[in-house]
Amino acid sequence: MDHLDPPGCCGADDQAATVGIGRRAVLLGAALGTGALAGLAVPGRAFAAPAIYNPFSGYPITGSWQEHLNRGSLGGVDFAMSVGTRLPACGAGTIQNIPYNGTGGHTVTIHHADGYRSQYMHLSQFLLGNGAAVSAGTVVGLSGGAVGAPGSGSSTGPHVHWHMINPAGVRINPLTYIGQPGPGGLPKTSTEQDGIPGTIFYRRMQNWLRLTAGYTGPIDGAPGPNTYAALQRAMRAYGYTGPIDGQPGPNTWRAVQRLAAGHGYTGPIDGVMGPNSWRGFARFLNQDRWN
Ligand SMILES: [Zn+2]
Repeated sequence: MDHLDPPGCCGADDQAATVGIGRRAVLLGAALGTGALAGLAVPGRAFAAPAIYNPFSGYPITGSWQEHLNRGSLGGVDFAMSVGTRLPACGAGTIQNIPYNGTGGHTVTIHHADGYRSQYMHLSQFLLGNGAAVSAGTVVGLSGGAVGAPGSGSSTGPHVHWHMINPAGVRINPLTYIGQPGPGGLPKTSTEQDGIPGTIFYRRMQNWLRLTAGYTGPIDGAPGPNTYAALQRAMRAYGYTGPIDGQPGPNTWRAVQRLAAGHGYTGPIDGVMGPNSWRGFARFLNQDRWN
């Protein structure tokens, strides 16, 4: 498919997501054992900044922050994805669903613990109840945005719109907040050339597993049991039937070789990863969608 006519959204009033401080906030404050409401509403409180990551780095940006401003929106970033895509939370927090939120359509708000909020717009479906606590990576809803669909608001094509709101109530660019101004942010791995997996290779592997296999740990290029458990989950699609124990053995690697065989690997499926196996795996991981 092409994106010559990128999905857009969000005119001047898509900020209609003004959020009342309600029971959910009280519960959140109580859970924090702090001054509750003050922490959610007053800028400058001494809370640690929330840990936020980009759960949509595998999708093309079809509407930048600046493009939103140019058309009168208060800001946001649009990521193209098909309707029904699972939307992971960008950080820990508490859920508030806002159905039919003006031009934003179905909107899920994640109230982070320090007064920051994140909002995803144009959902086709909410998955969690108000007040649900989520971790980074918890799926909070399904994307939408098809023209005229319930919950799409003013969206003109399938995508998710994401913005953050700071404790002062001002919209901020989440990609700027997390120091990732471009789409994605991961460089390509040279494993495709040298057959030797390194930090960049494993960061891309973690990002792929984050997008597709429920990995919620850091994208640090240092795989541990959580990374390998996600790899084993992903390898179910390539014939792996062993345990999800985060301890990859020959059966896990045989499945990886089957994946690599779809990307130019022509060697044996023997569970012994050599340079050619890693090269095939790297060709898979170097696709733009895992940037
Ligand atoms: Zn938008």
